[in-house]
Amino acid sequence: MALYDTKIEPGNIKRIGVMTSGGDAPGMNTALRAVVRAGLHYGYQMFGIKKGYEGLLAGEIYEMDRHDVSFIMNRGGTILQTARCKEFETPEGVQRAVTIAKVFKLDAIVVIGGDGSFKGARELAKAGIPVVGIPGTIDNDIGCTDYTIGYDTALNTVIDAIDKIKDTACSHERCSVIEVMGRDAGYIAINSAISDGAEVCILPEKSFDINEDIIKPVIACRNKGKRHFVVIIAEGVGGTMHIAEQIKNITGIVTTATILGHIQRGGSPSSRDRVTASLMGLKAIETLHAGDINKVIALRGMDYVALDIDEAINTKKHLDEDMIRANKILSL
Ligand code: ATP
Repeated sequence: MALYDTKIEPGNIKRIGVMTSGGDAPGMNTALRAVVRAGLHYGYQMFGIKKGYEGLLAGEIYEMDRHDVSFIMNRGGTILQTARCKEFETPEGVQRAVTIAKVFKLDAIVVIGGDGSFKGARELAKAGIPVVGIPGTIDNDIGCTDYTIGYDTALNTVIDAIDKIKDTACSHERCSVIEVMGRDAGYIAINSAISDGAEVCILPEKSFDINEDIIKPVIACRNKGKRHFVVIIAEGVGGTMHIAEQIKNITGIVTTATILGHIQRGGSPSSRDRVTASLMGLKAIETLHAGDINKVIALRGMDYVALDIDEAINTKKHLDEDMIRANKILSL
């Protein structure tokens, strides 16, 4: 027997809540605007839930009309704010959230966030609250979808920062070690490495040996006449400062370390993120409108599809080995 329903009589949904959850990502506001406007278009009453599951538990729930989402599609962050909520990860927390959702008469909830947020949404589904997830995370690490809202903007921010660091590295003949976001996933790292011609890229998905994978290629590049070097380290690898120190000590090359940090999350969403967020938001509402519940919206090729939430959560994404190979060939 299924853990939750996948169909509902469309007329049974009248009031829809929407939240942003987990790490913020550029384009979350655009998705929120699309969800609210599409919901109103189809005749639903729309409610913003502040601060993700924390706000649901606190009953921070407000009715939203079309003007509440005016002038936000170009703004980074999320006007609903977001949070990570430990209480919701307990059965008691989920039960309390269900009660609050019923107090506010929410017939369905749209969750804009990453895979952790979808696991939370699946708990709501199991407890009888219909949900739809929209993938919003800069990491692009959600297996079921080719693309997550925020990724393109974050990547462009990273590329812009590396370009600038590279300008000064070239002028001074330095090695620049740059840490980019990605705790478990190396998409930002490998894509920024290809985009910026980084000589070395170390990913959280792969173990590495400092001599073999970092020192040797840097020396090989120097012997080929290169006078500046970019080493990208994904956040999840850790030890960025130590790696920079070792490059300096072993090779004698002046080496600086930069941790890009939260600059990567902010900023106005790119065109790609605005279009994707808009179409995913519309698809989420049209999915509910058709009576399909407990889904995650995904981009597959050129198509926006609604997948069963369990299938969506269980689909794993694998790093493309061809990307790693391409970077090695092109940068050395
Ligand atoms: P990002 O990828 O940007 O980090 P995320 O959505 O994966 O975003 P998480 O911190 O993993 O971010 O999850 C957000 C929230 O979802 C958590 O704080 C918690 O409230 C809820 N959540 C995560 N996992 C579960 C779970 N297994 N059961 C219930 N709730 C969960």
